[in-house]
Amino acid sequence: MKKVNAYAAHEAGEKLKEFQYDLPEIGNEEVDVKVDYCGICHSDLSMINNDWGMSQFPLVPGHEIVGEVTALGSEVKGLKIGDKVGVGWYSGSCMHCNQCLDGQQHLCGTAEATIVGRHGGFADTVRSHWSWTIPLPKNIDMKKAGPLLCGGITVFNPIILAGVKATDRVGVIGIGGLGHMAIKFLKAWGCEVTAFSSNPNKKENILAMGAHSVVDSTNPDALGDIAGSLNFILNTTNVTLDWNSFLVTLAPQGRFHNVGAVLEPMAIPAFTLLMGEKSVGGSPLGSIALTKTMLDFCVRHDIYPTVEEFDLKDVNKALEHLEAGKARFRLVLKA
Ligand code: NAP
Ligand code: ZN
Repeated sequence: MKKVNAYAAHEAGEKLKEFQYDLPEIGNEEVDVKVDYCGICHSDLSMINNDWGMSQFPLVPGHEIVGEVTALGSEVKGLKIGDKVGVGWYSGSCMHCNQCLDGQQHLCGTAEATIVGRHGGFADTVRSHWSWTIPLPKNIDMKKAGPLLCGGITVFNPIILAGVKATDRVGVIGIGGLGHMAIKFLKAWGCEVTAFSSNPNKKENILAMGAHSVVDSTNPDALGDIAGSLNFILNTTNVTLDWNSFLVTLAPQGRFHNVGAVLEPMAIPAFTLLMGEKSVGGSPLGSIALTKTMLDFCVRHDIYPTVEEFDLKDVNKALEHLEAGKARFRLVLKA
């Protein structure tokens, strides 16, 4: 048995409190990771608030973890004690369904989410299946790498899925944790990037991180001015916006891709889609192999989230900062 020191919410919407729990004997295929840093994703907030109706309390949030391997089961492959690793939204999958065998483990119907029914990374230790304990490239910046394990791969995967080209004009809606990483990736891709933001105070920062223009995401007239211009749009907001106005900004055959956990059904008018052969899709995270590819890409191009660091003990202050819309642009806890 190993004692884990963590921070947990005991009821929906409550402040986190210090919380200790016991890890049972390590399983053959399991890995224990000493947490160095853990990012705070909006999904952590949604889980604390039980917005999705699947939270189990006490709940230790945290699924943008980087740290060091401290214990290994006997059947673990490819890892050794002391390796620097990352753990994201998923900490395990069945490894025998068609999706897992096809290398699309993030689409496994029984994939284990790091903070659903088990405890996450706002803690000194987290446990994970070896396959989802991702070795980090040498020379990665540990202070900033955590958010790549959830937010980063969530916006990187759609760029690959959509086959976005260097010559494309693209848009990103919502320039928070996910959105700002999307801008950095799409800029590195070579695209002309339009940022859709509701907050004029972010404009200077958004342009500095590589967007070519910033358009008010809540102003249908401003969206009308760029009608028919974009090949690809990525939505990262979790609120209801005027989706049709965004579809109108797509060029013929353009793709609208959603990763934001929008709670209400999204109204998509059929005629806007069919007249321009436009399409709408979505995705969760990305595969294990693509996560590794993304991490290499980040190190090669020096692409990291812009982070604000808090000590783990100040986790409630950090959560309030995020909930108030003040994060610039991803918050990271130092364990
Ligand atoms: P975040 O840092 O809070 O950013 C969300 C952004 O949405 C905000 O910065 C803001 O951007 C915009 N926004 C918020 N409220 C708005 C409003 N009322 N009107 C217009 N825009 C608004 O959140 P995040 O961590 O990036 O996560 C974004 C979403 O992705 C969440 O729903 C999260 O659960 C989800 N998520 C999904 C996956 C997946 O696998 N698909 C993975 C991770 C996270 P501006 O200030 O620029 O307008
Ligand atoms: Zn997340």
